[in-house]
Amino acid sequence: MNTAYLDNQASTPIDPRVREVLVAALSEPGNAASEEHAFGWRAAAHIDRARAEVAELFGASPEEVIFTSGATEANNAALLGAAAAAPPGRRRLLVSAVEHKSVLEAARAAEEFGFSVESIPVRASGDVDLERLGHMIRADVAVVSVMAVNNEIGTIQPSLEIGRLARSVGAFFHVDATQAPMVCQIDVLGWGADAASLSGHKIYGPQGVGALFMSDAAPWAMRPRVFGGGQERGIRPGSVPVALCAAFGEAARLIRLEADEGALLASKRMRLLTGLRAIFPNLAVTAESAARHPGCLHVMIPGLSASDLLMRIQPKVAASTGSACASGTIGASHVLQALGLSREEADACLRFSVGRFTTDAEIDFALDVIAATALRLAA
Ligand code: PMP
Repeated sequence: MNTAYLDNQASTPIDPRVREVLVAALSEPGNAASEEHAFGWRAAAHIDRARAEVAELFGASPEEVIFTSGATEANNAALLGAAAAAPPGRRRLLVSAVEHKSVLEAARAAEEFGFSVESIPVRASGDVDLERLGHMIRADVAVVSVMAVNNEIGTIQPSLEIGRLARSVGAFFHVDATQAPMVCQIDVLGWGADAASLSGHKIYGPQGVGALFMSDAAPWAMRPRVFGGGQERGIRPGSVPVALCAAFGEAARLIRLEADEGALLASKRMRLLTGLRAIFPNLAVTAESAARHPGCLHVMIPGLSASDLLMRIQPKVAASTGSACASGTIGASHVLQALGLSREEADACLRFSVGRFTTDAEIDFALDVIAATALRLAA
């Protein structure tokens, strides 16, 4: 054992069963839109099967699922597509303060078209402050977008209550459910979601594929923001990547089969937390009281430079100082700022995330490496 991958929330390793489906489908030619020959029919059959599996994962029907290149594209399509089609009296977009950048930046881009963006505050545990949202929500709101599960600190959001509030004023409700499949049953109908996003590489599928749920019962239909040959109900035109979708479908099928995975992740997380506490007795778990992703362990180690520690344990241990998408940017994570952490506190934070393939031996190896490095840092 010479490496430990503890960054599953940034990207999950591909499941060998999914890789098999991917490789098999990659070797078959054919465009799913070619209706005149058997190669096209076979490609379309792969897509149909995958769409049915992803629909099951959403809790929706296959006609409501659109394949995208990932959750970033799905989030952009939802925010900008729903805003573009909103009635003229609705010009406010409400997004939580802890959304992924692909929601925050898409909402900000809509400012160019006359929308105003308001940030829904979160409580210290990272969940949306429903009372504050209750005060913000009025009939001039176009879109409410709140993720199901946070990618940085793992907090589970009250999607049901948020959906109820959005619906009470007839607003369009989008849920970024990218981190949800390991955590809870995705229930777009129960939540009253009009749109929701998923990503292949957060469920042990390939990178470069994702999905957008687009409800037939939405208050209005999203407008396309990309234009082409009309594939994917015109919302995501372009040849559909057959092999990526087939593999994503298999990953979606497997994640539904592995329903007890949460308990396993929680026990791996606990092993890691117990070991880290032995090395750093002053360690604090971020948003400790929150209902959370069972594999996410976000901690603050007062006095430690998290980025320094991470650098020193390369290339042996993978963890993160923030979300992968934000970790090349300067400045404290917007999520930690929203929780009220100071810059100094945020600099002392590390996110570990265990997954389906994390072994006890891997965790113990990571703990040994971290302990040895901490000793050197203290010397
Ligand atoms: N939303 C959330 C909550 C995420 O965790 C991520 C991935 N970090 C994304 C969106 C973007 O997903 P993708 O990499 O598929 O674009």
